[in-house]
Amino acid sequence: MSENKNIIRKLDARKRIALVAHDNKKDDLIDWAIYNKTVLSKHQLFATGTTGRLLEESLDVHVTKFLSGPLGGDQQIGALIAEGKIDILFFFWDPMEAQPHDPDIKALLRLGVVWNIPMACDRATADFLLTSSLMHSEYETIIPDYKSYLKRNIPL
Ligand code: PGA
Repeated sequence: MSENKNIIRKLDARKRIALVAHDNKKDDLIDWAIYNKTVLSKHQLFATGTTGRLLEESLDVHVTKFLSGPLGGDQQIGALIAEGKIDILFFFWDPMEAQPHDPDIKALLRLGVVWNIPMACDRATADFLLTSSLMHSEYETIIPDYKSYLKRNIPL
């Protein structure tokens, strides 16, 4: 049996939540966020620029805002995920319209999986995730062991 080399990342009870919604999904996200304001306001909120502004206006809570998605905001959130500074992602992306920053969207979704971040991309999943008891307790995320990848032999 191989030795378990997984790395544990501890999440606090108060989560660092990133929220992103494409334009056709902003109504949906804001409506969902207003309904869940009490729970969301217990956590630390981050968002891409426009989504963050709308959240602040609708919820009257502080949101740390990054650049707008197409201007680099998705990449900023992706970078924080890689640094272990975002715990959960609610990303209401639009399946019906091509986006100018499609590569950034794919990169953000990919990094969420690389770092084993809970992600909800639609309202039903968002409901299940937000009502999980784990939202209010500490949690140990198992991060895959990428050491062997980093040490791989590259013939020069
Ligand atoms: P926005 O960016 O919140 O600034 O609209 C979201 C996105 O399109 O990624």
